[in-house]
Amino acid sequence: MKNVGELVRRKVDTGFIVERPRRLRSSAAMRDLVRENRINPDGFMQPLFVVPGTRVREPISSMPGIERCSIDETVRECRELWSLGLKAVLLFGVPDEKDATATLNYDPNGLVQRAAREIKDAVPELIVAADVCNCEYTDHGHCGILDDRGGVDNDRTLEVLVLTALTYAQAGVDVIAPSDMMDGRIGAIRRALDADGYHQATIMSYAAKYASAFYGPFREAAGSTPAFGDRRTYQMDPANAREALREIMLDVEEGADIVMVKPALAYMDVIRQVRDLVDRPVATYNVSGEYAMVKAAAERGWIDEIKIVDEMLLGFARAGADIVITYFAKEYLRRHGA
Ligand SMILES: [Zn+2]
Repeated sequence: MKNVGELVRRKVDTGFIVERPRRLRSSAAMRDLVRENRINPDGFMQPLFVVPGTRVREPISSMPGIERCSIDETVRECRELWSLGLKAVLLFGVPDEKDATATLNYDPNGLVQRAAREIKDAVPELIVAADVCNCEYTDHGHCGILDDRGGVDNDRTLEVLVLTALTYAQAGVDVIAPSDMMDGRIGAIRRALDADGYHQATIMSYAAKYASAFYGPFREAAGSTPAFGDRRTYQMDPANAREALREIMLDVEEGADIVMVKPALAYMDVIRQVRDLVDRPVATYNVSGEYAMVKAAAERGWIDEIKIVDEMLLGFARAGADIVITYFAKEYLRRHGA
């Protein structure tokens, strides 16, 4: 009995090993030629936080490089993003007044509504998406309207979401993006939009949104930390993937044009399963905590930020995401162009 090493050597010598995957990695040009997935900057969406006032640019300490901007500065930012080749932004309103029932959310002259109008005037071709939720507008910080026991009242919340979506459509928002995770909201919003003639208003549903610790820095940015309790009665359990597919199918049936998985990094398997399940565009949200972790480690010199960001963005593409909502969009476009 000959030893294994000798056998292997003999097989190599006589050409028995026919599988040589390294051939396709042999040069940069060869790797370019056979690459399966690419980062697609046309599918990027940059989130923007809109605050009251003029000439306001407030840095967010846990998200270096990201600022909360007044409407005039948001418009300036949008012009720059468009010139860099970005196709879409996602607006979040951060009002300085809040109440129990999110009244300012559906003010026709609210922050998001005015910002959308001014952006569409200045940069008509830039796609303006706007987040529809109540947590930035309620004094208790929950995404819905509360019942008398302090729980989130699903159907009462739908009324506010519908009113808000209508004012967004009226202001020229191209993509309405409900993020609240109430049951039945996509159908309610679609019916109301169609009834008022807003057939063109597109709905991007935060369909599988998990109750995640990765949202931490966003809550500083948007001032939306719940005053009590948590969001686990409406956002999804991070342990569940089958439930995500059910949520996605419900939203597709109710009329969602685009479905989203949020967060992204820890949920790549869900992105892939959703991609395989539906024929709609799939979005994923590369959330604030994912951004902050990269920035913090890069600041300490522990990782190569640019390589890490590119690898993450490529990972989302490989998992099947068509649209990536990411705080890295602007920096990426500055580096590579569209
Ligand atoms: Zn919310």
